[in-house]
Amino acid sequence: MELKLKNRRIMGGGGPGEEEDKWPPWLKPLLKTSFFVQCKHHADSHKSECNMYCLDCMNGALCSLCLSYHRDHHAIQIRRSSYHDVIRVSEIQKVLDITGVQTYIINSARVVFLNERPQPRPGKGVTNTCEVCERSLLDSFRFCSLGCKINGTSKDWTTKKKKKQRGIASASDSEESYTSTSEKSNTMRSFTPSTPPPISYRSAKRRKGIPHRAPFGSLILEF
Ligand SMILES: [Zn+2]
Ligand SMILES: [Zn+2]
Ligand SMILES: [Zn+2]
Repeated sequence: MELKLKNRRIMGGGGPGEEEDKWPPWLKPLLKTSFFVQCKHHADSHKSECNMYCLDCMNGALCSLCLSYHRDHHAIQIRRSSYHDVIRVSEIQKVLDITGVQTYIINSARVVFLNERPQPRPGKGVTNTCEVCERSLLDSFRFCSLGCKINGTSKDWTTKKKKKQRGIASASDSEESYTSTSEKSNTMRSFTPSTPPPISYRSAKRRKGIPHRAPFGSLILEF
C-alpha cells in the first residue's frame, strides 16, 4: 500500500518527498494514537490516564508520570469532547497550519478535532460539508478535523474521490433511476461520438439481411 502511494506520487510529477514534507513527522502518528487509555508503564497510578503526546519522541500517549521523562520536549495535551479527541487551537496552531479545519468552542476553549467522527448521512439542506467525510460544517471551513485535512489535501485524494463517486453512481444504478439517468447522459455527452461507429452498424445490417443462416455455420465457413 505504502509503496503504491509513493509510486503514484512520483508519477504525478511532484518531486519525491514533497508529500512527506508537507506535514510535520509527528502528525500522522499523533492521529493514530489512542488517548485516555490506562498507561502501560504506570498502571497503578491514579493519574495514569494518557492524555499527552510528545512531538519530539512520537512514542504514543503519555500519562503525567511518563511526561516527567520528556521535560525539555514539546508535549501537547489532548482533551476529550463526547468521546472524541480534540486539541486546543492555542496549542496546535503554534506547530501546525490548521487553516480550513473547523474549530469548535468546548468548555470555553477553541479546539479542533483530531480525527473524523462516524456519523449518519448529512441532513437535507446542508450546504457546506467536509470535503472528505461529508460532515456538515460552517460555511468558511473545508474539513471537520486534522485527519480529514491530511487526506483531503493529499495528491492522491482527487483520484480517490473520483473513483469513489463513480463507485457510488454504479451502486445506486439499480436503486435510484434518477441519479443513474443523469450520470449516463453526462457520460454520453463527454465520451460517445455523435455518430455510431461504422463497423457495428454494418454488421448489424448484414445480420438483418441474412436472417435464416445459423451464426455458427457462417463461422465455420470462414475458417
Ligand atoms: Zn519526548
Ligand atoms: Zn505513564
Ligand atoms: Zn471530515
